[in-house]
Amino acid sequence: MKHIVSYSGGKDSTLMLLLMIEKDMPIDDIIFADTGMEFQELYDYIERIENYIGRKVTRIKDDKSWDDLFFAVKKKGNNIGEIYGFPMTMACAMYDRLKRRPIQRYYRSINGEYTVYIGIAHNEPKRYARLKHNEKAPLYEWGIDENYVIEELKRRGLHNPLYDTFERLGCYTCPNMNMKELRLMRKRYPKEYEKLLWYGEQAEKYAKRRRFAEFKPGWTVSELEERFKKEEQVELQFD
Ligand code: SF4
Repeated sequence: MKHIVSYSGGKDSTLMLLLMIEKDMPIDDIIFADTGMEFQELYDYIERIENYIGRKVTRIKDDKSWDDLFFAVKKKGNNIGEIYGFPMTMACAMYDRLKRRPIQRYYRSINGEYTVYIGIAHNEPKRYARLKHNEKAPLYEWGIDENYVIEELKRRGLHNPLYDTFERLGCYTCPNMNMKELRLMRKRYPKEYEKLLWYGEQAEKYAKRRRFAEFKPGWTVSELEERFKKEEQVELQFD
């Protein structure tokens, strides 16, 4: 039986990993599915955790990249000739292709049985109820909730600074980011924000119909940027 830690760099899987090591639980591999579009701060954080635990995290990547999928042209259906562009908010094709599939491929490569350990805090009973027969959620079983996770990581000096800006971690091109997060990203993560602007330009350049140019429903990236600029001007007037 192999024991695999599913690691995202997020708070729950980080504390789960640390506690599993401290409790001497068997761990054969620690896997991280890399979309290639994470914030640099996440990659840095994962390296920090690797140094802290003295073990390597296995990066799992699909053979296709975000760009391959973003610029791919639809060959069937009603929208032949359109680029795929940004994923849909409710059904992210990038998640399916860049996370779920490479992970499934990795699991299929394992000889024999395996258990996957997933970071689910005690305040997430619905996620816990959805676990498969070979998945475990130690944090949930230990009764550890999100607040404890946050405080414990801070106490250990291992707080992930991305949580000061975002509620959930993910791609810097994720349309599920809310307006508040996007405004903060623009100020605090200019390098990634610049890249988002670039993808927005590409979407507008190649899309034939408006909805394929949009980043969030009703918004292209350039329209969001205009909105943020205007908000800034108003703020300056009242300063
Ligand atoms: S973070 Fe957003 S864009 Fe990235 S895989 Fe997840 S849902 Fe898709």
